Amino acid sequence: MPAQESAPRETIFSGIQPSGELHLGNYLGAIRNWVALQSSYRCFFCIVDYHAITQPFEPDALIRRVREMACDLIACGIDPAKSTLFVQSAVREHTELAWALASVTGYGELGRMTQFKDKAEKNPDNINAGLFTYPVLQAADILIYHATKVPVGEDQRQHLELAREIVRKWNARFGETFREPEALYSSTPKILGLDGQAKMSKSLGNTISLREDDEAVWNKLRTAATDPARVRRTDVGDPDKCNVFTLHKFFSTDERQAEVRKGCTTAGIGCIECKKWLLEGVKADLDRIRARRAELLAKPDAIDEILADGARRARAVAAQTMVLVRDRLGVDRPGNARLPDSQP
Ligand code: SF4
Repeated sequence: MPAQESAPRETIFSGIQPSGELHLGNYLGAIRNWVALQSSYRCFFCIVDYHAITQPFEPDALIRRVREMACDLIACGIDPAKSTLFVQSAVREHTELAWALASVTGYGELGRMTQFKDKAEKNPDNINAGLFTYPVLQAADILIYHATKVPVGEDQRQHLELAREIVRKWNARFGETFREPEALYSSTPKILGLDGQAKMSKSLGNTISLREDDEAVWNKLRTAATDPARVRRTDVGDPDKCNVFTLHKFFSTDERQAEVRKGCTTAGIGCIECKKWLLEGVKADLDRIRARRAELLAKPDAIDEILADGARRARAVAAQTMVLVRDRLGVDRPGNARLPDSQP
């Protein structure tokens, strides 16, 4: 009987800025999902340092943060043997394709991007062109690998729509070259910060860094917002209105969640007890991540080698795409070098 051929796996691209320490919001909202996806998809995970330079930065700190981010991602479960993990600037084709795609991207469309408007409003002294064309580089990041699925949060939906529009315009102008990438929405519940108000964010101070020690983690969990209607210990609560219970869904077993639900809705447990149970689950995950991270930090050369290998694998794909793109554009064809005005 002939061996059954398995269908080729779809390609995923996702990027993360080297913006410092990973926190619980990054881990639960994105990285855990990446770890799960790497078994079923051909994954390209990229540390997007060229995106990071659109915000104020220090070059020495950027180099350090790139390595630290790689270390954190691997410690969280990204497996370089299954996924291609690399740094954006190590694959020059990203920026080259971004320039080509910019030629079919409307100025008006870029001006409508909510993220651009938000960032421009927050940093009126640094409204640079890189910030404006950021979504074009994002489109290039995806299309250079012909990725068909992109894990995105709600805040990235508009950029992905623009990438799809860029594909339509490009294909209409230069012939079928790219496929429109689709969003891959995660089924994880919405995670609010420990204040129970806004999205988890380092700048708002409402999250927990994956590097914090147990005491710091507990100090933050202990004061985390709960169901606002549960004022006294004797009040019954509603777990579905409590962000602590949302965190239990990530870190606690089904049995524990059932215990919390029952205890909360009958005032059988207090919020501190509930949070101590949550701490057990959080600690189990963080202990594993911290141990793996310590192992990796002891071998910095290994991180560099993983990133170099990832860049080699990414570049092999990206270079092929650019051969096609240059051909479509009519640039850098072998014949062009022989034009009279290109002779010295
Ligand atoms: Fe939230 Fe737990 Fe308190 Fe209920 S017992 S309000 S789920 S912290």
